[in-house]
Amino acid sequence: DETSGPRRIRALDPDVVNKIAAGEIIVAPVHALKELIENAVDAGSTSLEVLVKDGGLKLLQITDNGCGINRDDLPILCERFTTSKLQTFEDLQSIATYGFRGEALASISHIAHLTVTTKTKDSDCAWRAHYDSGKLAPAKPGQAPDPKPTAGRQGTQITVEDLFYNVPTRRRAFRSSSDEYNKIIDMVGRYAVHCSNVAFSCKKHGDSSTSIAVQSSASTVDRIRQIYGGSVANELIEFSTSDARWAFKAEGLATNANYNIKKTTLLLFINHRCVESTNIRKAVEQTYAAFLPKNGHPFVYLSLEIDPQRVDVNVHPTKREVNFLNEDEIVQEICEHIRSKLAAVDTSRTFLTQT
Ligand code: ADP
Ligand code: MG
Repeated sequence: DETSGPRRIRALDPDVVNKIAAGEIIVAPVHALKELIENAVDAGSTSLEVLVKDGGLKLLQITDNGCGINRDDLPILCERFTTSKLQTFEDLQSIATYGFRGEALASISHIAHLTVTTKTKDSDCAWRAHYDSGKLAPAKPGQAPDPKPTAGRQGTQITVEDLFYNVPTRRRAFRSSSDEYNKIIDMVGRYAVHCSNVAFSCKKHGDSSTSIAVQSSASTVDRIRQIYGGSVANELIEFSTSDARWAFKAEGLATNANYNIKKTTLLLFINHRCVESTNIRKAVEQTYAAFLPKNGHPFVYLSLEIDPQRVDVNVHPTKREVNFLNEDEIVQEICEHIRSKLAAVDTSRTFLTQT
């Protein structure tokens, strides 16, 4: 009798598993975009163009001028855990946005229509391939799934269309495409500040003007000026500190006491990955409390390099937070350094107004 005993346990279809996993990792279009930006930067690109339609839900396209992908690698490009970024267990401990390597393109291919056009330096032509659920797929039903030769410049163009088309509940959860677009602009802006020597542009499909346009030669201060405005860029202090004991190096730019805003802007990069850290945010705010009026907050760009073996990406895939060894000591040292810089500016300012 079916109703009296327990139901039999069965394995889920791998495709279902992959779809669920992908939807947990990529919660919003910006999470897919972040992975694509990191891939483009990893590929040695000096130019990165982003095109967005409907907050990234209809179209997310990123064009780079990096090393490209070998034609022969295209069949496995979107399989899970395929990567060119090398792989002993120790390597895996270096910070990757996901817990494992080689998951980004695979995940995207399970919840969107993915097209890759790519050309390496040595290839005579570019190759275009379509993907569905980790595998090569035909461009149109009935066609062969193999990559097709096409014209193109060196580099890679990744086109993500109809994100969450097969996850209707997630798709319906997005109310405002302008909210999603703002998250995308915010993320592109962060990488545009951090990646010196790389040109960035970000544009909404159909708009004649770009939302972000940074030239490859722009200095970090210029990048901040173009993205966050002159009121921030004119009040920046440069800082740089390191300590061999904790195997870290920190550098960045932070606003002085002349600037304050309602909410802290923290551009935090750990080993060149944009991450969140509640601890660092709190410590930075505490540091500034002595220098800014009540409810006033700073703008801080902080690039932290730590021995990768000491960094742990938080286990839960949707969390963008990271932990690292001796976190308290490192954060304290950085904040102490920023405090001394702020104090120095503050005294010279007082001195100037007195004379
Ligand atoms: P991971 O970045 O962790 O290796 P991904 O799924 O993001 O995993 O990418 C898989 C592989 O595809 C990368 O290791 C890289 O070899 C290749 N790849 C992805 N995007 C690009 C790109 N824009 N340019 C060159 N190669 C790329
Ligand atoms: Mg990647």
